[in-house]
Amino acid sequence: MNWRIDVAVQTPAHSALGDLLSYAGNDPLPAGTLLRVPLGAREVLGVVWQSTPETETETAMALKPVGAALDALAPLGEAWRDLVAFAARYYQRSLGEVALAALPPQLRDLSSVQLARRLKRKTAARAEVVADTAANAIALSAEQSDALARFETEAGPFLLFGSTGSGKTEVYLRAVAALLARNDAAQALVMVPEINLTPQLEARFKARFGDDAVVSLHSGMTNPQRLASWLAAHSGTARIVLGTRMAVFASMPGLQLIVVDEEHDPSYKQQEGARYSARDLAVWRGQRENAKVILGSATPSFESWHQSRPAEGDDPGGRYVRLAMPARIGAGELPAVRLVDMNLQPPKTVLSGALLAAIGERIARGEQSMVFLNRRGYAPVLACGDCGWKSECPHCSAFRVFHKIDRTLRCHHCGYAERVPRACPACGNPDIAPVGRGTERLEEHLGELFADVKRPDGSAVTIARIDADSTRKEGALESQLAAVHSGEVNVLVGTQMIAKGHDFRRITLVAAVNPDGALFSSDFRAPERLFGLLMQSAGRAGRDAAYLAAQGSRAEMWVQTSHPQHPLFAALRRHDYAAFAQSELAERRAAGMPPFAFQALIRADARTQDAAQAFLTAASTAADRLEGAERVTRYPAVPLAVQRVANVERAQMLVESGSRAALQRLLAGWQPVLHALRRTPEGKGVIRWLIDVDPQQI
Ligand code: ADP
Ligand code: ZN
Ligand code: ZN
Repeated sequence: MNWRIDVAVQTPAHSALGDLLSYAGNDPLPAGTLLRVPLGAREVLGVVWQSTPETETETAMALKPVGAALDALAPLGEAWRDLVAFAARYYQRSLGEVALAALPPQLRDLSSVQLARRLKRKTAARAEVVADTAANAIALSAEQSDALARFETEAGPFLLFGSTGSGKTEVYLRAVAALLARNDAAQALVMVPEINLTPQLEARFKARFGDDAVVSLHSGMTNPQRLASWLAAHSGTARIVLGTRMAVFASMPGLQLIVVDEEHDPSYKQQEGARYSARDLAVWRGQRENAKVILGSATPSFESWHQSRPAEGDDPGGRYVRLAMPARIGAGELPAVRLVDMNLQPPKTVLSGALLAAIGERIARGEQSMVFLNRRGYAPVLACGDCGWKSECPHCSAFRVFHKIDRTLRCHHCGYAERVPRACPACGNPDIAPVGRGTERLEEHLGELFADVKRPDGSAVTIARIDADSTRKEGALESQLAAVHSGEVNVLVGTQMIAKGHDFRRITLVAAVNPDGALFSSDFRAPERLFGLLMQSAGRAGRDAAYLAAQGSRAEMWVQTSHPQHPLFAALRRHDYAAFAQSELAERRAAGMPPFAFQALIRADARTQDAAQAFLTAASTAADRLEGAERVTRYPAVPLAVQRVANVERAQMLVESGSRAALQRLLAGWQPVLHALRRTPEGKGVIRWLIDVDPQQI
């Protein structure tokens, strides 16, 4: 044994074991080789990072020998290793954690022989791309052609700023088709924010390129499915990988194109472990691997919008190329926006009379409506009018939500569920009542309102609901979506799940029932999110211009609000994303907020709020002497909006700098200080701490 093999393994988070563990080997192993190594009493999967001849000291230390290599697999490439190392460094996690989390879980359990068998079975040869010539013969719109022409001739990264229904997906399909036709080893990565959007995109890509060329990667797959997709990508046999944020780490030796659809979507940010942004990593990866990157959205994140600003005066402009496609395919118009001033409605109005009449007209014409409320369950609170009892969660600083379907009170934070009490637990009053409403109650309410209305064929009206509760069962979402597409459903009620991406052809009215909460949120991104969501929702209406014309109907987006004068709604009315972005960005520039500054959150969870805050305050003091500290603002520790979850108190501290590099330097120096602090009196009662770089929720 005369080689030292440094291996990335999954060490417990914050174990301070360092990034790589050293083992002994008889021979050097190529970097990127997957292998098994002993760790404590177990054998774990690892990735070789480097091999160097052992020094005498190392020989004397008698390093543990490496285990078997999975030599049926080609080593992970240098670009992949660089991506993982960058992500670990940038998001302040250990290399081993990020590397191993990026691999399919089943790799941990299979031997090299088993893997070899799977490779043979699943991925015999590079998939033949079946070019669907009929589809490629569809005439592109002028805007689509222009966007593609610039994509082919310029380097990017590109921001495809296209209205909902402007044919962005068609642009992705053509860009992929051109690449695969040009280079028969090339691979493309296409990312979507939500698992529930992958089946429809997968269908479109498979229809275009053939079943074998396309694989999916998302967390809704079984471990064997994930492994099969991963192997197909890693071996180069799959030409197109479709997936959610985790797919950004797929090993793709032939990667030449990355698409990030709905790039503004918060789901691209991982919310546990390494809190990476798959969109930002995609841009980094594209640059590292010389792959072209397209970020697409009708409502880009302000970060991407700012990065794609044209040059003006002294400003050389951003580094992204902005491609605009303002028009809808088929010259379809964006829906007319109607604001309902809820101040003028009778007290306790849920759905205004005018909105109900508009929905009724659509039912009579056989068209569909979509009513959107971002709150699931029947009612957010159950309360006693006599003694003031409310359905608080005993473990969290939040109310338990009343779910009428299974008569439970359920905490959406910790999961604690109980049967609904028959009477007030505090005073015995049998008359406890739901306060406020969620999608379940809205569905019930609409059912009552339209109970006597008939469809054109004389049958009864169908109200359906799609949210996280209605889609829990395997296949439920698919069948619910199919019912909407078939025209069976007249009114669809749902959360933001239905607002995104779906290409419903017969929806001519979309209504947001109660979006006001986000207008006055403490999170500075809330208005950006709300605007994006309302624009996306509006994008579900009137997608088929020919259908609208045949119906003699108009697409409408209704918004019920108590603040109709808010500038956000004025911009929404004109579908003017650019104006809204400009005014919000001007405010952010003046206040020195992202994208004009860079942020990180240090969070601490502890037995008491005092302990959590004391830890953060001590951490802040300790940071004074670190490099870069003078260029980074550290704000006081504060409780999180939902301060206690599952009996754990949570606090956070915002740190901010005009320089990304200064912030990164400080964070890197801070890590060991935070580890050490945990073992001092200031760390007493602290359960965990974490760093969130570029946080999306503040
Ligand atoms: P987006 O992703 O921008 O919302 P899609 O790519 O889903 O838009 O396109 C909307 C609809 O228009 C889809 O049904 C699509 O098949 C169709 N479409 C896209 N491009 C064209 C085109 N050039 N000619 C005809 N139909 C098109
Ligand atoms: Zn009571
Ligand atoms: Zn709870």
